[in-house]
Amino acid sequence: MSALEFARPASLAQALALHAPGGPAGDGSMWLAGGQSLLAAMKLGMASPARLVDLQDVPGLRDIGEQDQSLSIGAMATHAAVAASDLVKRWAPGLALLAGGIADEQVRQMGTLGGSLAHNDPAACWPAGVLAAGATLVTDQRQIAAADYFQGLYTTALRPGELILGVRFPRLQGLRYLKFEQPASRFALVGVAVARALDGSVRVAVTGLGLGVVRWPRAEQALSRDFSLQALQGLVTDDLQALADLHASADYRRHLAGVLAARCVSALGGGRLPPHAPLAPRQRPALVAQHCAETMPEDGFGDVQVLAAAPAQVWQTLLDASALQASIPGCESLVQTRADAYEATVKVGLGPLSVRFKSEVLLSDLRPPQSLTLVLRASAGAMGSGQGQARVRLEPLHGQTRLHWWVQVQLSGRLAQFGNRLVEATARKLAGEFFERMGQALSSGQASPSLQTAPWWRRLIRFFFPSSGK
Ligand SMILES: Cc1cc2nc3c(=O)[nH]c(=O)nc-3n(C[C@H](O)[C@H](O)[C@H](O)COP(=O)(O)OP(=O)(O)OC[C@H]3O[C@@H](n4cnc5c(N)ncnc54)[C@H](O)[C@@H]3O)c2cc1C
Repeated sequence: MSALEFARPASLAQALALHAPGGPAGDGSMWLAGGQSLLAAMKLGMASPARLVDLQDVPGLRDIGEQDQSLSIGAMATHAAVAASDLVKRWAPGLALLAGGIADEQVRQMGTLGGSLAHNDPAACWPAGVLAAGATLVTDQRQIAAADYFQGLYTTALRPGELILGVRFPRLQGLRYLKFEQPASRFALVGVAVARALDGSVRVAVTGLGLGVVRWPRAEQALSRDFSLQALQGLVTDDLQALADLHASADYRRHLAGVLAARCVSALGGGRLPPHAPLAPRQRPALVAQHCAETMPEDGFGDVQVLAAAPAQVWQTLLDASALQASIPGCESLVQTRADAYEATVKVGLGPLSVRFKSEVLLSDLRPPQSLTLVLRASAGAMGSGQGQARVRLEPLHGQTRLHWWVQVQLSGRLAQFGNRLVEATARKLAGEFFERMGQALSSGQASPSLQTAPWWRRLIRFFFPSSGK
């Protein structure tokens, strides 16, 4: 661990003063709750705060009580305290069960509600319970509805330095959280929370799919109309975006979500489950299935995107340095070094870290305007390096382009510790943003460089196809 300062303020005012941006430790400070995630991240070199502001002694943050018709749980309340609280058991027994099912006794004695929500691990239990309950997070600056708080993998609405003081849960008819757990950590391989509000409306939140907690609108609509197992019968789970890793395929994760949702509904009085009934048939949209069969090798991942421009125009844009720079999220610079090569500096948010990669991109297997491969080598200095390739195939679609992409990424050094799931989730998110930006630029006409304004393009064509005459 690198050298750092440690502060243990005895009041909220002191804590906020220590952590204030521009304060003594500026942006280098981090809140320390139970250290169950943060200390592990520091040991792995993934977080290096200049100062830890320990919240243990700040009064009031562990309180559990009733306030304004809601159940209020302080950010520093440990999972063990929530699980044991008579008030929580009376108000929402499902929340006590959720807390009691987290990890093991040691972790439950140290890990906190606020730490779990701030960290927002994609396999954590609390985010599902809080989102399904329609709870409100109270911070030192404002109140944030759970629906606005969770913003994807390790990402929340919290501003730098913002402190969660606690969470307010509204009264509910019932809430149940069930997970299919990792035997080693008890994190959720997939976890589902179903909550029934007093007005009968239902929220379903799913954790563990890989991209952070999400709601499942199709199940919510069906259950709000008819809170029964029949309402879930035949409901396909293909609207849930899921990732594959060495523990489970995306399909299996979606399937688990369906099964667990049904078990929650059953536990909340929505009917008795026949043993081992297949409740959520596994189906995939025909387009993706076809795409996978045709183009996706066994490793890596990919998707299909429809862009509002003909393949020739998309092809041109893919090879235009300025259009590329504008489309790559976090791209700080992109310079063409050879007809078939670029150098780029790209800042990527990888979990809790922001990593700057210096990358070399080589173009190969060019078949204008049908397909190409981008080979990528990237270095993040002492953090490690990455390499990968992206294959792109363009298919004409009534004046538009159906673009198939497939990406394979491998990280080494410290970066490899992030694991496939985070790497895939990040790469998928970035690739999605990339094609979205490119699609916007294409439809607004900003990304259609003519051959005259992109003279290197001619050189590239000649380089690869000397006899093409273009
Ligand atoms: C072996 C193991 C198994 C686990 N299994 C599970 C499981 O089954 N289910 C599950 O849900 N979780 C599980 N966890 C996670 C655990 O429950 C903790 O809740 C989680 O790691 C957060 O830890 P913490 O509360 O100690 O926060 P810390 O590690 O101290 O902090 C985590 C992050 O939150 C920030 N932070 C902390 N408090 C606040 C606050 N009040 N306001 C703003 N920011 C804040 C910190 O700066 C840091 O960035 C497991 C952890 C371990 C180590």
